[in-house]
Amino acid sequence: MQRDDSWSDDTWLVAGGRPEAAGEPLNQPIVAASNFDLGAADDPDVTPGRIYSRGEATAGWDALESVVGGLEGADCVSFASGMAAVSAVFAQVPTGGRIVMPADCYQATEGVAAAGEADGRWSITRIDTDDTDGWLDAVGDVDLIWVESPSNPLMHVADLHAIVAAERRPGSLLAVDNTFATALRQRPLDLGADLSVQSATKFIGGHSDLLAGVVTTRRDDLAAALRRLRVIHGGTPGALETFLATRGIRTMALRLERGQASAQVLAERLADHPAVARVRYPGLPDDPGHVIAAAQMSGFGSVLSFELASFDAARTACRRVRLIRHATSLGGVESTMEQRAVLAGQEDIPPGLIRLSVGIESVDDLWRDLDAAISP
Ligand SMILES: *Cc1c(COP(=O)(O)O)cnc(C)c1O
Repeated sequence: MQRDDSWSDDTWLVAGGRPEAAGEPLNQPIVAASNFDLGAADDPDVTPGRIYSRGEATAGWDALESVVGGLEGADCVSFASGMAAVSAVFAQVPTGGRIVMPADCYQATEGVAAAGEADGRWSITRIDTDDTDGWLDAVGDVDLIWVESPSNPLMHVADLHAIVAAERRPGSLLAVDNTFATALRQRPLDLGADLSVQSATKFIGGHSDLLAGVVTTRRDDLAAALRRLRVIHGGTPGALETFLATRGIRTMALRLERGQASAQVLAERLADHPAVARVRYPGLPDDPGHVIAAAQMSGFGSVLSFELASFDAARTACRRVRLIRHATSLGGVESTMEQRAVLAGQEDIPPGLIRLSVGIESVDDLWRDLDAAISP
C-alpha cells in the first residue's frame, strides 16, 4: 500500500503494510518458511522472488518495513533486535575509524562500542549527551556520530539541531537512537541525520512480547549496506516477531498519546512529593532539557526517571508497587519501573534513581500505586 500524501501518521500506522488484492487477508499472515520453491526444471523462465528467508525474508518482514519506513518517508531495514540494528550501524565504521558517542548511553550500545575499542577496531570519544559544546568540538573528524536522545536512563537531551548543523567530514555518518522518542515524537532524518535507529521491542511492538529493531534511512547506499550485513550476520527478524511488531504499531499513536499524557501528570505529582529528590522528564518546564526537547520533539514521550533519597528507598519502592510492574524495559502497554544502579555497568547512575515507563492504565490508579510505594 502506498501512503497517500493527505494521510496523517496515525492513519498510515493503521493502513500501511496490508495486502490489497481482492480475496487477500487484511493482515499479512505469518509465513513460517525458511525456504521457497525455486521452480520446475522445465520452466526456465521462472525467477523466484524469494529463495531463503535470511536473504529475502517473508512478506511479514516487508509489511513491517513498509509501515515503519512510510512513517518517515524513508527506507526501513528490520533486525532481530534493537542491538542487531545498533551493531549493524557500528559495523559501518571502517577499521581504525573514530566514533563519538554519549558518555551516558544505553548500556548494551556502550558494550558494543567498548568491545570494539578493546579489540583496537576503533577509537571512541565519549561526550555527555547534554554537553552541546563538547559535541561540537568532537564531531568534526570522526566516522560515526552516535547520539541518543532522550538518553537512557538519565533523560538527558542532546541538541540535535546543533549537532546536525556542525561541520563534519564527508563520508561520516550521523545516527540517532530514537527508541525513547519514536518517529512519532522526533524525526532525526528530517533534522539531517543519516540513520535513525529504534528498538522495536519497545514502543513499536508495545506489548513486551517480542524483540526486534529497525533502522530508517533515506540513503540507498546505507540501506543496501545494512541489508547486506543483515544477510551475512543473520540478524534477521523472525516471522512471528514481524507479525507482532506490525500488529503493535497499529496502535502506537494511541498508546503513546495516553502514556505521554499520564507521564506528564505523574512527573508533576512526583516533583511535588516529599519523598522525591528529583524528577527527570523533559516535559517539566524546569527540566534542564526542556527547551531543547521542545524545539526538536513534538511531545516528550512516556518515559521518566525520578530519584528517591537512597538506594534502599528505591529498592523498597520497586518491590512495593503492585499495578506498576517491577521489570526492566519500556514502551509496553503496562507500566514498568526499575532501579538502574543495581544493573551491571550502571554503577554511576544515582543510587536512588528509578526509571518509569508509563503505560496505558488509568493515571489515577498509577498514581495511587506509586504514591503508596514511595511514601515512607
Ligand atoms: C532497548 C534499547 C536498545 C536495544 O534494543 P533491544 O531490542 O533490547 O536489543 C537500544 N537502545 C535503546 C535506547 C533501548 O532502550
